[in-house]
Amino acid sequence: MRMVEHDYGSAEIVLPVKPKLLPGLDVLERGDGQVQFGVHSGHSVVACDVSPDILSALRRLDGSTSTTDLLALAEGEHHAEELRDLLTELTELGFLEDADEPRTDTPVLRDASFWSLRTGRTRRETTADRARYAVVVHGVGRLTTTVACLLAAAGVGHVRVETDGLVGEEELGGGFSDADLGRQRRTATAELIQRVNPRVKTGKLGRRPPDLAVLADAVVPAPELVAELVADGITHLRAGVHDGRGVVGPLVIPGRSSCLRCLDLHHADRDGHWPLVASQLAGRRQRADLSDVSATAALACVQSLRALLSAERRPPTWETTLEVDAFDGTVAHHPAPPHPDCGCRPSAGIPPMA
Ligand SMILES: [Zn+2]
Repeated sequence: MRMVEHDYGSAEIVLPVKPKLLPGLDVLERGDGQVQFGVHSGHSVVACDVSPDILSALRRLDGSTSTTDLLALAEGEHHAEELRDLLTELTELGFLEDADEPRTDTPVLRDASFWSLRTGRTRRETTADRARYAVVVHGVGRLTTTVACLLAAAGVGHVRVETDGLVGEEELGGGFSDADLGRQRRTATAELIQRVNPRVKTGKLGRRPPDLAVLADAVVPAPELVAELVADGITHLRAGVHDGRGVVGPLVIPGRSSCLRCLDLHHADRDGHWPLVASQLAGRRQRADLSDVSATAALACVQSLRALLSAERRPPTWETTLEVDAFDGTVAHHPAPPHPDCGCRPSAGIPPMA
């Protein structure tokens, strides 16, 4: 929690014409003249010695009143400079948007408020970023459909699911209903995605390579698919649920990071029988409980968005496998460095996340 003391100067910060608190943020009174914005201790801010007229102005941070009018309200009580400082701080932290900005064809994402606090990208910028992304999700199963639907809900412009066969009973509960049983999985999945977000494209990408491929559900991704992605230089992220534990990562940027073969070679170093076991698991999936699917899908979706955003920075899945265990309530980070016997020969890689 940060305490705002009104003793800073940030003249270069341009205040919004019509300031509006990010959706989800409230003005909370703490007593003793203190006002709190936000709840989480890592982000929340407390302003001290807030006079009643400033509190009244803060109550109008809903985009309905201009900064000029708010300052005029406080001016009567000689508190305009204090209010200006507070608005400057809130703007600098990304807590305020401008309700006066012109409308765009694509509505600003409602789901990106707290993403903007973490990334420094405004909701408007995030909306535009995500609309440009194209992601292909390869897989068969509830994790595949759930990840695809979350990416669509997050505003990714093109979500293509590469799948085949017919919807089976084991896939119900991940978005499919009884009415989908026996339907072509590809068609049913595309319709499901468009029900989540009608703006999302779901067709083939054509000549455009995807920005990211997600390899979902398979316990061991099919080697021929992995080889194709590496040969085409397509960034890919593995996600699966195995024995009740969700696994997300590593993120593979061909030629720059370690790869899935590195992971396999490390596994074989620890267990000499792994190559034979892996060959039997390639492309196979394991039915998972819906709660484990949901926990893993959420992690896979957000890590996909981070990988897409931070093309020049290392996201948490960089040469790392994240293992989510909903039963134990843990997310473990397992290093997945380059293996000396793998031919992927990653270069110096990319810089760590700022
Ligand atoms: Zn490798």
